Amino acid sequence: MAKKGNRQKFRFKCADCNNLNYVSRKNIKNTTDKVELKKYCKHCKKSTVHKEVKIERGKTN
Ligand SMILES: [Zn+2]
Repeated sequence: MAKKGNRQKFRFKCADCNNLNYVSRKNIKNTTDKVELKKYCKHCKKSTVHKEVKIERGKTN
């Protein structure tokens, strides 16, 4: 029953250095809030807050 239309790709951006470190997906029907997680940033060399950033261009299947 999983429909592709509900899944949205997004990137995690480090709040400290603004680098886009991770790509992830979420079900936009179940997760309407912005995702915010502590993740390791290889640029900062420490765990920092990573915030969701939408991927606008392209529609890859
Ligand atoms: Zn960083």
